[in-house]
Amino acid sequence: MLDLFIRAIRLIDPFSSRDEVTSLLIINGRIEAIGKDIDAPSAVNNVIDGKGLWLTPGLMDIHCHLREPGEEYKEDIASGTMSAVAGGFTTICPMPNTRPPNDCASITRFIIEKGESYKRARALPIACITKGQKGEELTEFGDILASGAIAFSDDGLPVRDASIMRLALEYSRNFDCLIISHAEEMSLSKGGAMNEGRMSTILGLKGIPSACEDIAVYRDIRLAELTGARLHIAHVSTKEAVRLIMEAKQRGVRVTCETAPHYFSLTEDAVDGYNTLSKMNPPLRTEEDREAIIEGLKDGIIDCIATDHAPHSILEKECEFERAMNGIIGFETAVPLGLELVRQGILDELSLIHLFTKGPASVIGIEPEPVKAGSMAEFTVIDPEREFIPTKETLFSKSHNTPFLNKKLRGRPVLTAYNGKIVFKLK
Ligand SMILES: [Zn+2]
Repeated sequence: MLDLFIRAIRLIDPFSSRDEVTSLLIINGRIEAIGKDIDAPSAVNNVIDGKGLWLTPGLMDIHCHLREPGEEYKEDIASGTMSAVAGGFTTICPMPNTRPPNDCASITRFIIEKGESYKRARALPIACITKGQKGEELTEFGDILASGAIAFSDDGLPVRDASIMRLALEYSRNFDCLIISHAEEMSLSKGGAMNEGRMSTILGLKGIPSACEDIAVYRDIRLAELTGARLHIAHVSTKEAVRLIMEAKQRGVRVTCETAPHYFSLTEDAVDGYNTLSKMNPPLRTEEDREAIIEGLKDGIIDCIATDHAPHSILEKECEFERAMNGIIGFETAVPLGLELVRQGILDELSLIHLFTKGPASVIGIEPEPVKAGSMAEFTVIDPEREFIPTKETLFSKSHNTPFLNKKLRGRPVLTAYNGKIVFKLK
């Protein structure tokens, strides 16, 4: 088991609102003491100098795709959890659009057990709202929750029929469980390959208007209001969606939301040159939308950052733009992209780490292992200045579909601890 002393590191912990330089002693995988004045006992010779480093609670990502069961050539639970901890995440929530989709207790159990077998990170599955994600018949919420799922979503697809969505929200009240909306009005996105606007005109591609997201966000907010259920809006990308969610929160609707790093880092311009690595759903939007997302993060309308880690093989990306699959990988680039917001003076360090820890934890209603004496060691050490270039050779994910491939990024996790063990350490 792990014996380790970390000397004089900047502890940034949103759960205890602490941002201070301190030292930590870990004995036998458990945090023995935290304090400015403690020193390493002579028996502990594993010492890390914390100068210039941050220590945060294990990061949490409530929206990712691990592709197992069914598409293990893109990613599997082994490579996905490795990529997650390399990105600093010790808790991840895989979406249910696997093959077959996770719409029952046995698949939920399979994902949890396989996740646990690698002893690297906690995989808390999100199960389907409807059987086979067909949008017709609700899954067995009670059974699936008892097996360990933490929320329901048909992510990848919206629940098209508003009356089925209403039923799902009503049913969820029996368990007070969370329903996650992939907000897309399919009749507006049909045939679209990118955001509808200036760039789609230049490229001659059929666009998806931002109204496609806004309409669906409004529908689900109204249904949450009607039923009193807990609703979470996935991957918010538009200015109007942020406004709708703000208004809904103000009038007491039980709604939360997330955005992904690409929506505050990139715009539709990244699609220029028919770059399929920038193709995703919802699509990258305009500068005005990007700024609204940043404002939403700043003033707390957006509750958390989730990666929407969506691995695809070269086959699904190196093809015509219209035929390329949607999505980019995100675990290993989320922290440096988030840090950019701190460097630009938009967020302070504690607020950024909140969006990766306490924010998502409150959305899904779990309490992760705290950074305090007596707890098992579970934390992320970040070097905010460490530069790196994600390449096909260095990424831990099986897939490499990211517009940040071969681009220099700044700041990254250098060590991740989970359940008393070091599960990732940068060489
Ligand atoms: Zn989605």
